[in-house]
Amino acid sequence: MLKIAKFGGSSCASAEQFRKVREIVAAEESRRFIVVSAPGKRDAKDTKVTDLLYQLYEAAEQRDSVDRLLTRIEERYQDIIGGLGIDFSLHEDFAEIRRQLEDGASRDYAASRGEYLNAKLMAAYLGFPFVDAAELITFHSDGSCDFERTAERTEAVLRELDCAVVPGFYGADSAGNTVTFSRGGSDVTGSLLAAALHADLYENWTDVSGFLVADPRIVKQPEVIDYITYRELRELSYMGAGVLHEDAIFPVRREGIPIQIRNTNRPEDHGTMIVANTLKKPRFVITGIAGKKNFCSINIEKAMMNSEIGFIRKVLSVIEENGISVEHTPSGIDTLTLFIHQEELEHHEQKVLQGIQRTVNPDLIELEADLALIAVVGRGMKSARGVAGRVFSALAHEYINIKMIDQGSSEYNIIVGVRNEDFDAAIKAIYNMFVLSAK
Ligand code: ASP
Repeated sequence: MLKIAKFGGSSCASAEQFRKVREIVAAEESRRFIVVSAPGKRDAKDTKVTDLLYQLYEAAEQRDSVDRLLTRIEERYQDIIGGLGIDFSLHEDFAEIRRQLEDGASRDYAASRGEYLNAKLMAAYLGFPFVDAAELITFHSDGSCDFERTAERTEAVLRELDCAVVPGFYGADSAGNTVTFSRGGSDVTGSLLAAALHADLYENWTDVSGFLVADPRIVKQPEVIDYITYRELRELSYMGAGVLHEDAIFPVRREGIPIQIRNTNRPEDHGTMIVANTLKKPRFVITGIAGKKNFCSINIEKAMMNSEIGFIRKVLSVIEENGISVEHTPSGIDTLTLFIHQEELEHHEQKVLQGIQRTVNPDLIELEADLALIAVVGRGMKSARGVAGRVFSALAHEYINIKMIDQGSSEYNIIVGVRNEDFDAAIKAIYNMFVLSAK
């Protein structure tokens, strides 16, 4: 059994968190390859080391003094070292970082040092070898990850070792330049390692006990999703439910390796298992609810629209020419509605309207702003009758007017459009209908 365990920033933010990590790693022999983020926030007011490093880079670039920031960052690590009471120093590494910055090191190099130093420290604390991610994770010159080369190198280097700590978030291109993933990218590193080593499981340790059925800022103490498929996760993540970096799914998914989201502060919790397929019945008809605000709609009406060949294509090409993406296109016999991110349309509003007017000569164009889209997602919906009906009645009970409804042909999700101001109430109503009343 082989597990890749990745610990996020809050799991590595202090000596106390380092101790929890050690206990978790020691609890199972299968946890031999560990990926760490840079130290994150210790409390709500704290600053992540990665953010300090970006500030450090800006200061170096402006030729301002880097002393204050460098000391502040070094103190973060020193606090952890002191709290653990180990004989270990990163002093030389900090001197090297200063030299590199003075020599014009890149922004990615600066940002990557958070993970680099933290992995060195974690390796020393666990008594594991440290392996620099620059040796494993390989990028193309355009900044995208070279998956094949990464898998080859990771396999070749790590297979020789019984255990190791690897920094997340970065790697190097063939010229040896440091390259990072986008923010939160240590999740991707863990996934790449799991895929390359054909691990049985990719554990992603964070500060929540898994994916929640709904946003806890809207629903009080929502239930945790115990099993979710990659597909369901994709639908929910797209709608803004984020615990995991989106690019972390692809490498493990291709190898059929499940991901388990777990809580470093509550290791006794099962967390959420993300799998390709499962016979496990979802606990509720729906797996999750997520949504996004600030959409707008363009409603186009034209008599006999249905028989006009190429009508939709022409409208969509106007949108495309303006570099805008369309979220949903519900249609009726003589109507077509486009749901678009409000901010995107705002920049091109008059050009888009003009374009539609000229290309398809509609009878009427109406705009509506401040709309929200809510996705109700679940593999259990496919075989259940009356799901859409229950969504409607939950919303009707709260006097919420539905602006749009769209059921994907996969029957995995129902999307409803409501007014921004009804967003929270709508999510609560749907949650109560499918989860609270089912308990
Ligand atoms: N430390 C990086 C960030 O803050 C990467 C990560 O934590 O995954 O985005």
